[in-house]
Amino acid sequence: MSSRRDFLQKISASAISLPILGGTMSIQDFYSQPYQGPMLRVAIMGLGSYGNRVAEAMQSCKKAKITGLISGTPSKIKEWSSKYNIPEKNCYNYETFDRIKDNPDIDAVYVITPNGLHADQSIRVAKAGKHVICEKPMAINAKEGQAMVDACKQANVKLLIGYRMHFEPNTLEVIRMRNEGEFGKVLFFQGLCGFKIGDPTQWRLDKKLAGGGAMMDIGIYAINGSRYMVGEEPVWVTAQETKTDPVKFKEGVDETIQFQFGFPSGAVASCLSTYSMNNLDRFFLNGDKGFAEMQPSTGYGPIKGRTHQGELNKPHVTHQTVQMDEMAGIILEGKKARVPVDGEEGVKDMKIIDTIYKAVKSGKKESLNLT
Ligand code: NAD
Repeated sequence: MSSRRDFLQKISASAISLPILGGTMSIQDFYSQPYQGPMLRVAIMGLGSYGNRVAEAMQSCKKAKITGLISGTPSKIKEWSSKYNIPEKNCYNYETFDRIKDNPDIDAVYVITPNGLHADQSIRVAKAGKHVICEKPMAINAKEGQAMVDACKQANVKLLIGYRMHFEPNTLEVIRMRNEGEFGKVLFFQGLCGFKIGDPTQWRLDKKLAGGGAMMDIGIYAINGSRYMVGEEPVWVTAQETKTDPVKFKEGVDETIQFQFGFPSGAVASCLSTYSMNNLDRFFLNGDKGFAEMQPSTGYGPIKGRTHQGELNKPHVTHQTVQMDEMAGIILEGKKARVPVDGEEGVKDMKIIDTIYKAVKSGKKESLNLT
């Protein structure tokens, strides 16, 4: 999707409202009416595959725009600055980007680099006095994640994590139904997340840059999804790892992990994270009065699914467009996301990942306190 017009065509099917974008205004009205409010000016750090997707989606944003670039590859800077009309004075590399502190054209930096670099880069952005938007996983463990939260607090800047599903209309509809008791007492969640990974030389299979394996990259969707679908924080974790290819998936790089959570209400979750199977993007929530199933549940969409009441039918919106408009509302107008996307939310997922790895090693039920 490359233009605002395409974007509008996709959402014009029916009116939906999101909590931040327009309050009671429908998302359709928000994107079709002129906007004169504040604009979040964002520098993108890491001009790779997901950076490209975010930049394309931001062309349809109303509250956020790209005003800066950070990359270690001069040819990418050249190509992007001409494509997105970014002046040379707003372009940096990984050595020079601390100077962003003197650049009044940039309010926030969106960190879209390999996981193992997020903490250091986000802390440098905070020290430069700019808001941080950081991709998931926010870091490679909870200690690093907490250091990011602390640095942003100290610098008095916001830290938001790229949890795009927290703004996705069908996901929010299931959460609304759960909050209103339509599933009754929630008893069980299943999250299956995985894909078959290709090139063995990519950073995603390098422990130092990735922080782990499938769990950091795709399993995190089942973790985060367990929390927003059940609506509670897990209090215990069990986990089992299997590895079929120890050459491709080296020590510390997980191929497949099955994990289970227990929640304070007694609800349980059973999840799968893998780099060795395709067609795994499925959530199932079961309560004593009803259910929701979503497949695909966390891909770029359209998200599809049904509940005991029928099909989920909210229209597809480009996740990253809405995410960035919502995040602009959070940063510039102090709005609150219905499902949090702040640094503390990211640290909870990191604590769970730390505990899953601990449970794999110990073979025991490990307890967890996230509240
Ligand atoms: P990618 O490999 O396509 O891009 C990474 C970028 O970082 C590249 O431009 C690369 O040049 C740059 N980079 C800087 N320093 C590097 C180094 N030392 N080694 C390797 N690359 C370096 O990866 P991607 O798919 O864009 O993923 C980037 C981040 O975005 C990851 O944290 C990933 O988890 C996240 N992501 C999120 C989503 C989502 O849906 N929210 C989707 C994909 C990726």
